[in-house]
Amino acid sequence: MRIGVPRETAPGETRVAATPASVEKLRALGYDVLVETGAGALAAFPDEVYVAAGARLGSAAEALDSDVVLKINAPSDVEIDALRDGAVLASLISPALKPELVQRLAGRPVTVLAMDAVPRISRAQALDVLSSMANIGGYRAVIEAAHEFGSLFTGQVTAAGKVPPATVLVIGAGVAGLAAIGTAGSLGAVVRAFDARPEVGEQVRSMGATFLEVERTQEELQASSDGYAKQTTADFEARAAALYAAQAREVDIIVTTALIPGRPAPRLITAEMVASMKPGSVVVDMAAANGGNCELTRAGEVVTSPNGVKVIGYTDLPGRLPTQASQLFATNLVNLLKLLTPGKDGQVVLDLEDQVQRGMTVVRDGEVLWPPPPVQVS
Ligand code: NAD
Repeated sequence: MRIGVPRETAPGETRVAATPASVEKLRALGYDVLVETGAGALAAFPDEVYVAAGARLGSAAEALDSDVVLKINAPSDVEIDALRDGAVLASLISPALKPELVQRLAGRPVTVLAMDAVPRISRAQALDVLSSMANIGGYRAVIEAAHEFGSLFTGQVTAAGKVPPATVLVIGAGVAGLAAIGTAGSLGAVVRAFDARPEVGEQVRSMGATFLEVERTQEELQASSDGYAKQTTADFEARAAALYAAQAREVDIIVTTALIPGRPAPRLITAEMVASMKPGSVVVDMAAANGGNCELTRAGEVVTSPNGVKVIGYTDLPGRLPTQASQLFATNLVNLLKLLTPGKDGQVVLDLEDQVQRGMTVVRDGEVLWPPPPVQVS
């Protein structure tokens, strides 16, 4: 079978779904690989390196007219129409948020695997693009903050005087938050973190950061069963808001990453809190694409508040490290293809008895299979 890798067409996208290294691995699974000319240009993978890895170069139409199509972003209408009958497409889809896209895909006799619907179980971690992109995004969020911040992150004692380290607050200590904590700490900042899930406290402390606490009820002290935060109560939010209000007056940088699956991002940092921050402080809102954790966030923009606080709402943080992001995304796709190619013979065999494959199958041969049955954690 042939795997096709078209150039991404979404505005501003820099990533590519295959790298020369992933092409070699896909070929070792028995596939021919066709990469659209120029597909890796923005991620520093020139055409000739794909050719050296054994790929053939071709047009967008040829890449989309393949047995298996690998993409980063969900396909456009034009791309959906260009898929060949019987094709298998793997890309981001956001099926829970885009029912009309799912219906549109089901209008074609194709099979669609959503890379953002990989079940959150240990066995599936190797396929999990949400984690690999969140990890890169958390790193880049801190780099963006450091870029906008007018002072050093690290403390210094110099002949010109003593410089205190910057203080960073990370809200939401999931994959992105932990990456942000690690990056800010490695730049020399003093880092604090908070999360609705109390069980992450140990991980935060193990990275040398302080885990901030609020009073929690017995129910709020329970560890989550699936790693996702539940919708918080108004009472918990009020206690957390008091904590954020006090922290906002002290810290130099706030990085917010709080998300609850299937819901708009919780609003945690108010305009009033931003107004209480020191001039020159920075907020990076990693939930900007989902409505934002900060009242002042504008998706895709940097807003400066009246008191001189920069609020960064970039929604393309992983794409700002296109080479690394492409490498990790492409590796996640190779791991998917390993699962789908038990004979290592270049033939896809979709096993819907396997809960990882079932969980991410949105459409099979034109039939909508979304949403999947709940995942059984063994
Ligand atoms: P996420 O992106 O859904 O949320 C980010 C963080 O925000 C979470 O830690 C969440 O608890 C927190 N949050 C949500 N609402 C909040 C609020 N109101 N106030 C404060 N914090 C709030 O989460 P994520 O980073 O994708 O992952 C969360 C967990 O799941 C991690 O522990 C991770 O290791 C685990 N995980 C497991 C797998 C797997 O096993 N395959 C894959 C991905 C993640």
